[in-house]
Amino acid sequence: MALIDCAECAGAISHRALFCPHCGYICGNLDLEALMAKMIPPPLLTKLELRAITGLAQKSRQVKWLKERRIPHTLNAFREPLVLREQLIVCYGGLGSLPRKPKRERTEPNWAAIGL
Ligand SMILES: [Zn+2]
Repeated sequence: MALIDCAECAGAISHRALFCPHCGYICGNLDLEALMAKMIPPPLLTKLELRAITGLAQKSRQVKWLKERRIPHTLNAFREPLVLREQLIVCYGGLGSLPRKPKRERTEPNWAAIGL
């Protein structure tokens, strides 16, 4: 791998890079479809995704939201929730079908217990 200078910021980049990792300058012919096909989503949800999914910015409120929905997660040293993308997909069959806050089920009293 040869390093070349970015035409925009002069940072060192691979001669095969599609864009500069320092400034985002697009070098060479960027084939978006080929790039998208190569992209693998990161295993953990990003902060932006967590914020979008929960609708909450505060990490402690995001954790509460996750707990209420019993979505498996862990906390990092900054008390930020970490959620495996795969886990969320398994829980909800995809990011597009997240339920709202679970409804409390109303249950009938056990009438048989008192002989009715
Ligand atoms: Zn650059």
